[in-house]
Amino acid sequence: MNRIINEQGDTIMRMYDIIEKKKRGKALDRKEIEYFVRGVTDGTIPDYQISALLMAICFKGMDPDETFYLTMAMAASGDMLDLSAIEGVKVDKHSTGGVGDKTTFVIGPVIAALGLPFAKMSGRGLGHTGGTIDKLEAFPGFRTSISETKFFDNVARHRIAVVGQTKNLAPCDKKLYALRDATATVDQISLIASSIMSKKLASGADAIVLDVKVGSGAFMKTREDARLLAETMVNIGNSAGRKVTAVLTDMDEPLGYAVGNTLEVIEAIDALRGEGPADLMEVVFALGCQLALLSGVAQTRDEALEKLNRVIDNGSAYEKFLEFIRIQNGNPEDVPRMRELLSAEYVEEVFAENDGYVSKINAEGIGHASMVLGGGRASKEDTIDLNVGVVLHKKVGDSVIAGESIATIYANDPKKMLAAKEEVLSSYSFTKNKVDRPAKILEIIGEQ
Ligand code: URA
Repeated sequence: MNRIINEQGDTIMRMYDIIEKKKRGKALDRKEIEYFVRGVTDGTIPDYQISALLMAICFKGMDPDETFYLTMAMAASGDMLDLSAIEGVKVDKHSTGGVGDKTTFVIGPVIAALGLPFAKMSGRGLGHTGGTIDKLEAFPGFRTSISETKFFDNVARHRIAVVGQTKNLAPCDKKLYALRDATATVDQISLIASSIMSKKLASGADAIVLDVKVGSGAFMKTREDARLLAETMVNIGNSAGRKVTAVLTDMDEPLGYAVGNTLEVIEAIDALRGEGPADLMEVVFALGCQLALLSGVAQTRDEALEKLNRVIDNGSAYEKFLEFIRIQNGNPEDVPRMRELLSAEYVEEVFAENDGYVSKINAEGIGHASMVLGGGRASKEDTIDLNVGVVLHKKVGDSVIAGESIATIYANDPKKMLAAKEEVLSSYSFTKNKVDRPAKILEIIGEQ
């Protein structure tokens, strides 16, 4: 490599040399990675050089040290929230994204009802997966953007806050993510892991549980890729001094029955009242259990489960949810009447054509149907209809009779209704033979 030396005899770092080094498959050192992140953040490195390095990383990979340096530099590229003045182990939960995933609305209040400070910054949905922040907007008046001081105060006083990411949280990731999206460089494990973990580290939690989804409705389609991503994120978190566990969960079919913003919130409220679907509760308990163990609130899985169940059974998790809605400007009286607030002009059923058993439900197809109805975004700028979506009545393993309803569609446009009906029906596969219900929890990585 031809080095450029300055008058003091020091090597001047150049983006060109960093790209060349990675292209040859060599590991970048900490200073080079920090130089790159600084230049991305302050805009001094042009997009074409950033993109070239991203592509070289896709081809040549990054080792664990490089991935860690990249994450730390990205986390430090903007505000780093300091929650240390809040008493107790601050916990956070992150999902890599799926269809019908409403676990945050259940876990947050459950964990807060156990006395643990739950501090979460969330994103909006894109493509076939939904976003927590969009779903929270189903509550009239609810504020998803509050000041850092208010976020801090809510966590300290009420043990719960869920907000949209502040503008200055890991700004380098925002820039990189937009370029990755445009240059086919999203699906690289080190880039995904550093992107997710930089935001988690900057959000300030001490203990983080990661829900890494696997299957047709997830980012990670295979268990091997999901495991590698999970291990990479757990290692980054641990190296940064945080307690992190990852749970690999099935996303071959949607989670629970409801898919669509308000519909999912309604299902989560049912879950907080002890009436959640079995598969949703399996994931809620697995993630909640890991948070209880990480924070030391329980010493064993059995003890954790007993505590999680107790706050649902005695109503304190539901009460905590009402409090959460109230402190972020929503009206707690809306919570029990969300079904009445749902305004979908067209409500129609999808019927099974034959007798049999459900053998598969393509989660991506159901997520896409909800998006077509207007419940999701094809591009970041799209506005969404919170009232539309799909409620499944049959999950994998269920028996069906010809003519029976397998799903209800909620729409505000008759053409979209038709398209969604077709997509929902074609997302289902049936068989004549009995099928076992799939396990939701596939693996736990980094359990304490
Ligand atoms: N989610 C993120 O935040 N970043 C990625 O790179 C992928 C998913």
